[in-house]
Amino acid sequence: MTNMPILKEREKQIYQKGAQAFDMTCEKKSLAGSVSQRACVFCGSRVVLYPIADALHLIHGPIGCASYTWDIRGALSSGPQLHRMSFSTDLKEKDIIFGGEKKLYGSRVQLIDKYHPNAAFVYATCIVGLIGDDVDSICKRVSDEKGIPVLPVHSEGFKGTKKDGYKAACDAMAHIVGTGSIEGIGELSLNIMGEFNIAGEAWIIQDYYEKMGLEVVSVFTGDGRVDKIKRSHGAKLNVVQCSGSMMHLAEIMKEKYGIPYIRVSYFGIEDMSKALYDVAEHFSDHPEVMEKTQNIVRKEIQAINPVLKQYKKVLSGKKAAIYVGGAFKAFSMIKALRSLGMEVVLAGSQTGNKDDYKLLREMCNDGTVILDDANPLELSKYCIEKGADLFIGGVKERPMAYKMGIGFCDHNHERKLSLAGYSGMLNFAKEVYSSVKSPVWKFAPEKKLS
Ligand code: SF4
Repeated sequence: MTNMPILKEREKQIYQKGAQAFDMTCEKKSLAGSVSQRACVFCGSRVVLYPIADALHLIHGPIGCASYTWDIRGALSSGPQLHRMSFSTDLKEKDIIFGGEKKLYGSRVQLIDKYHPNAAFVYATCIVGLIGDDVDSICKRVSDEKGIPVLPVHSEGFKGTKKDGYKAACDAMAHIVGTGSIEGIGELSLNIMGEFNIAGEAWIIQDYYEKMGLEVVSVFTGDGRVDKIKRSHGAKLNVVQCSGSMMHLAEIMKEKYGIPYIRVSYFGIEDMSKALYDVAEHFSDHPEVMEKTQNIVRKEIQAINPVLKQYKKVLSGKKAAIYVGGAFKAFSMIKALRSLGMEVVLAGSQTGNKDDYKLLREMCNDGTVILDDANPLELSKYCIEKGADLFIGGVKERPMAYKMGIGFCDHNHERKLSLAGYSGMLNFAKEVYSSVKSPVWKFAPEKKLS
């Protein structure tokens, strides 16, 4: 057992099932001095818009903001690779004193002339919010001159949480949606939202939908293209994964174009199958869609089940800790880990809301620790106390797991391994097995907080 105390102001953001009354606080700014695992508002916008591959992404700020988010996702493109470049106005002291608008205008024009993008995003970072550059008017001026959408993203890092960055990204995209022709889009059509094509996952999901006889109009934003986003208002359904990042845009499209949405997850056999069935159900006027869906699900499960059973034999009884960006992902992960015989002893998220945590509480066993906006010490403390064998998180959690001498599985946006869909579940099981059962942990020092 560790006896590290937790910060008093953080007490209500930590809950242990069965040990206290449920009264969690969440959706608040990170506590100064707590060293939150959360990213800033700008980073939130960047991760959502980054995969739009034929757009130019210019970060208006000091070079550090650009380098911090350079190539931030393992999001693949089947064509242009412009998204992988990280352009910055590289604001210096002189710009902070005299303003950066001139520099922004010049770099914008120069980059558009050189790369001929189909749209351009301009991200406002902390310092831009402080010096008050008029990013909107520069964007409008360049847009008029160059004839492409040039969109400001109001993502000043200090002005909220990562979730506000998601919203700023959705607001920017909402300006493009509805500006293209919807001619030729049929009744059986949808948009995939909140799927970022990490390691090609959007292609896997798109393939399922196409086999169901459905047309995918646009993916937000994996392997994204500006022209597809422009005509996405012609789709008959929005299917939203990663709801924290995309619900705002789904709501806008519902209100403005009357497009209904459903929330899904593509992770784990149970939720993947539910996603396909829910979509088929939506198109129940076309019974052939459900028939095709049943065949796909049956075939896919039959193909992976025998191997999963083998992994389950060795992983049964192992304990896992989960710390993710959006809580919705944690729900699927708990189910997927249970299907491998594993128990979740810690579950937390950077941006969960009260309903998310209520549901997490219902899903978890007694004794499970639930954390909102955690810091490294809290995560390490509870991992050690609860005897976790595996930590599932992102790039910032990986070193913590290795220092504690336990297995790690990257489930965040930097990874290069597809974990969505049925084939993704197989990859996940293999990754968990390889890490948890690695002989290297025998040589790790005793698990304790330093
Ligand atoms: S926007 Fe602000 S908080 Fe975010 S990386 Fe830049 S300076 Fe840091």
